[in-house]
Amino acid sequence: MAGGGNAIRGSRVGAGPMGEAERGEAAPRQAVTYFCANSHRSVITFSVEAAVPDSWDCPKCGLPAGLDSENAPPAPKIEPYKTHLAYVKERRSDKEAEVILDEAIQQLRSRRKSGEIIF
Ligand SMILES: [Zn+2]
Repeated sequence: MAGGGNAIRGSRVGAGPMGEAERGEAAPRQAVTYFCANSHRSVITFSVEAAVPDSWDCPKCGLPAGLDSENAPPAPKIEPYKTHLAYVKERRSDKEAEVILDEAIQQLRSRRKSGEIIF
């Protein structure tokens, strides 16, 4: 780093995470409201020195929440995609199961017709 270091280092250490805030004097705060896709309002308190992030995980449902109440960030697409895949798989195995059952019944019927008994 260029420059005469000491003052910068000192202020960085002093503004560190929790220590300073607990003294309660030197850490002014700002309350920021985030909105998620489930219409939760979450007020998160930051130090005024902190950069306020554009999005924050909603503490109530875990979805990403944004600063704009009219435009909450959409839920991540991972979950619907998984659900869709599972849905397709379910339908497939249902169909397969139906076919297998059907075949089994037909075999059973045709064998019974021919008088063959299987146990
Ligand atoms: Zn939420």
